[in-house]
Amino acid sequence: MATTREFKTEVQQLLNLMIHSLYSNRDIFLRELIANAADAIDKARFESLTTPELAREWQIRLSIDKDAKTLTISDNGIGMTEEEVVENIGTIAKSGTKAFLKMLEEQEDNKEPLPELIGQFGVGFYSAFMVASKVELVTKKAGSELPAVKWTSSGEGSYEIDADTRTEQGTTITLHLKDDAAQYLDSWKIGEIVRRYSDFIAYPIVLPTKKVNEDKTETVEDKVLNSQKAIWLRKSSEITEEEYRSFYGHLSHMGGDYLKAIHISAEGTSEFKALLFLPKEAPFNLLMPEIQKKGLQLYVRRVFITDECKELIPDYLRFVAGVVDSSDLPLNVSREILQENPQLRRIEKAVVSRVLSELRKMLENEREAYAGFFREFGRILKEGIHTDYANAEKLKDLVMYESMNTEPGKMITLEEYVTAMPESQKEIYYITGEKREAVASSPALEYFRAQGYDVLFMTDPIDDWIMQQMFQYKKKSFKSVDKGDFEVEGAEEMIKQAQEKFAKLLEFLKTTLGDSVSEVRFSARLTDSPCCLITEGNALSPHLERLFKAMHQ
Ligand code: ADP
Ligand code: MG
Repeated sequence: MATTREFKTEVQQLLNLMIHSLYSNRDIFLRELIANAADAIDKARFESLTTPELAREWQIRLSIDKDAKTLTISDNGIGMTEEEVVENIGTIAKSGTKAFLKMLEEQEDNKEPLPELIGQFGVGFYSAFMVASKVELVTKKAGSELPAVKWTSSGEGSYEIDADTRTEQGTTITLHLKDDAAQYLDSWKIGEIVRRYSDFIAYPIVLPTKKVNEDKTETVEDKVLNSQKAIWLRKSSEITEEEYRSFYGHLSHMGGDYLKAIHISAEGTSEFKALLFLPKEAPFNLLMPEIQKKGLQLYVRRVFITDECKELIPDYLRFVAGVVDSSDLPLNVSREILQENPQLRRIEKAVVSRVLSELRKMLENEREAYAGFFREFGRILKEGIHTDYANAEKLKDLVMYESMNTEPGKMITLEEYVTAMPESQKEIYYITGEKREAVASSPALEYFRAQGYDVLFMTDPIDDWIMQQMFQYKKKSFKSVDKGDFEVEGAEEMIKQAQEKFAKLLEFLKTTLGDSVSEVRFSARLTDSPCCLITEGNALSPHLERLFKAMHQ
């Protein structure tokens, strides 16, 4: 018996958006639905490794009915039970969609959200309502006794759920196209969209297509629209820019552009192929870990195993998108096995080492591109200094900072800093703070300026934390200029004299300031300013203090 249910408020908000305002690139609805079909087949294929009855001739079928004005997308993948349909499609349990809506609310001008964002937030299915006035979904869960389910909605307030007689596993989605979406009834147009967005999908995407025979009779034949080529197995010289870009879009869910594609072909103890991408721009949700995709896709001999395999890449490289195809792992690896697998550890090691060496190469040969990359992702990369002990030295070579001697916006590496140090300078000096303007005017810099020593400006919120592990670079220790005191030549004598001469002033300041400071003392560090505030050697820096406050700690 059919039941009608209301959409959750958030879903309805999203649907309104799909129906009324997202017109910029409607073609992507097909990419989203095909991606879902392919995901569903990936899952069924994975299950079939242990439950052979579920194996099929995997296929995604499209069909067009010009009279009924419908476009259908059908797969023989995992399917859904009624409960799953309600959970996945009627309710939004996913944080991604909530975050998406929040971002829209916060957007000041009423600009259209970028179409790339739809995929990024995992609200793919609803994009069907950009082109359809009514959507029907019929689905049967693979290997389940439960009856098939039919879900219908026009995207306005409610949806209907009913039983269906379908017996074959998989899902069929029928789009009743809006009048202004009639172009999606054109098989040529559909072919073009599939080739543009979904060419690398590993399963045939089939569209029955009319063919005029030699004797002028017409027949309908299945036509495979995509090449299904596993791009990571091909030579880089044979892959076009466009192919890279479309594969990157599929992998990253970030849209946008990539900066570098990295092919790895490893032989020996661990045999695998990988295609990794460094992104060009950070997504705005980069620092929101709950919706940030992590990990790489894992395939075993071209069979999809899992998305977001965290064991293949450390957190501090989470901006890297890519796929790893292993020749060594068994096909029926379970997720538990993945967690402690020495093969995966070896792959991860190779992946990290290669990414770091590519970054190093870029720093040496494409300075501007690297600086741009570092501005976007540097604060994530730096985490590695704290977390990846084995690669900490390599990471130190990759970090960049502005400094007292750089123009605003220009950065130097630690190596460059050390090379420029005058002989008398023994330590690497730095100052942490919120932004350049704030640290650049600190009186704590005066002494160093007078000595001809440069001071690194560390203005990332996490710099203080990173500095706890920095220790040394090229045998030089790091020293914060606003912590503790410094050895200034002749300081002792100067301070002694001052103490005698200005004993009363010191007394006066101490009693006036009372508890708001722990000490008032003379310093030899200042050249122009009368005084400066400093933090005791092992106390929290003012910046870190602010950071902890912000985190309510
Ligand atoms: P995402 O693909 O990012 O999870 P979607 O909105 O595209 O988000 O899909 C929501 C969910 O609906 C999917 O995660 C999946 O569980 C389910 N789903 C969608 N299409 C299919 C399909 N063809 N077969 C099985 N499940 C599907
Ligand atoms: Mg999807």
